[in-house]
Amino acid sequence: MKSRMPMPFDRPFDRRRLLGHSLAAGGLMSLSGCAGAGPGLATARVIGGREVLMPMRASVDRITDIKVCLRPFRPQGPRLDAERLGDTLVIHNYGHGGSGWSLSWGSAEVAVAKAAAALPDRVAVVGCGIIGLTSAVMAQRAGMQVTIYTKEVFSRTRSVRANGSWTPDSRIALTKPAGENFGPLWERMARFSWKSFRSYLGLPGNPVDFSDNYRLSDRPHVAHEEEAPPPGKGDYASTGMPQDSSEFASYSDRIEDITPAVETMEPGSTPFAAPYVRRGSNMFFNFASYGHYLMQEFLENGGRIEIREFHEPGELAQLKEKVVINCPGYAARDWWRDATLIPVRGQTAWLIPQAEVHYGLYTNNVSALSKSDGLMIQAFHGLGDMEGLGNSSELPDRAESEAAVEVIRKAFAGFRQG
Ligand SMILES: Cc1cc2nc3c(=O)[nH]c(=O)nc-3n(C[C@H](O)[C@H](O)[C@H](O)COP(=O)(O)OP(=O)(O)OC[C@H]3O[C@@H](n4cnc5c(N)ncnc54)[C@H](O)[C@@H]3O)c2cc1C
Repeated sequence: MKSRMPMPFDRPFDRRRLLGHSLAAGGLMSLSGCAGAGPGLATARVIGGREVLMPMRASVDRITDIKVCLRPFRPQGPRLDAERLGDTLVIHNYGHGGSGWSLSWGSAEVAVAKAAAALPDRVAVVGCGIIGLTSAVMAQRAGMQVTIYTKEVFSRTRSVRANGSWTPDSRIALTKPAGENFGPLWERMARFSWKSFRSYLGLPGNPVDFSDNYRLSDRPHVAHEEEAPPPGKGDYASTGMPQDSSEFASYSDRIEDITPAVETMEPGSTPFAAPYVRRGSNMFFNFASYGHYLMQEFLENGGRIEIREFHEPGELAQLKEKVVINCPGYAARDWWRDATLIPVRGQTAWLIPQAEVHYGLYTNNVSALSKSDGLMIQAFHGLGDMEGLGNSSELPDRAESEAAVEVIRKAFAGFRQG
């Protein structure tokens, strides 16, 4: 049985996202006998009716890094409006919650269209995270000269402390504050981004890639448990903070046609000992390689980067560019005094890369995904979208990561190789 759902690699495995549509079985399985056509199209080999996968080497002594990041969440959805500061036009592009990587191109397209309407020959971009860098590249593609002003270059931004999977509606907004108009805009951004990412598939270094993701469980999958609860049960209006996961907006059904299906695997058809296994496929981004392509395009097209920290909005008027795209991420809370931004803390542990492993796993509230820059392990605590909400601590918690690694290690007990 197959259903449409994102296999989440930066979101708690959220029942609201599991739409439970039944599709005829067969499509993915019929591919699975093929040898993987390079890492970008890896599907498992099947020998004797069972998939053959290499095991993840999850052990705490292989942890090479623990990264913490704050998702820049706004209940209203990302800020994309324009405002005037004297003779400077500022177009905002920040507040993408847990979806900044996924929506980056579409959001940049919206911001750059607003900038282009002022017919500038040059623009400034504040920030060099994933949103600033894609905005800069999009502005160049629209024929503008671009200077990025930023406190940190891409490799030091919060963006590269994220998970980096296709999760376009992860903590992107709350249903009520976002309102009805945001759904169509979200869809436009998601579809534009999806197409843009596809143009990076198959390039050397796999900047953008797909892999199979397995969800292991001790209990059978029950479709009716996965239907969406009624949205907006909480009390955001009186508290200024969501009170439960049901308040978070879900738009994934709008792009069902481009979302790979998920199927329930036959018992014994995978190497995992867990009795119930589901398999989906998801797009993800390899930070180093993808960042390299973006920077290369930006610099080859004459882009300039100036290291500079702004402290208050009026400083933008000193720039020679009179059109500015403002992409500071969570830092807009201080730099633009935007109190609507709510931090949502998240932590990932990075283990030594395993090139021979090309899949992801979700079990007991922990996800693992093999990326070119490491085996990434992330713990969730069963709190749904409330996980990390309001927590602005960027201090790593090693005990949390070690416990998560241990969960993944145990998932390989009884794993059958060959
Ligand atoms: C644990 C975790 C996992 C995530 N996983 C995913 C995922 O799987 N998929 C997904 O789509 N999204 C994911 N996200 C969300 C995503 O990482 C963010 O939405 C995204 O990184 C925001 O990018 P940004 O460019 O807006 O901000 P940032 O990366 O924070 O970049 C901001 C830029 O602005 C600069 N800047 C800030 N203040 C100033 C100033 N005063 N003066 C000058 N420059 C300034 C900074 O130096 C930086 O260059 C995740 C987030 C977390 C925390």
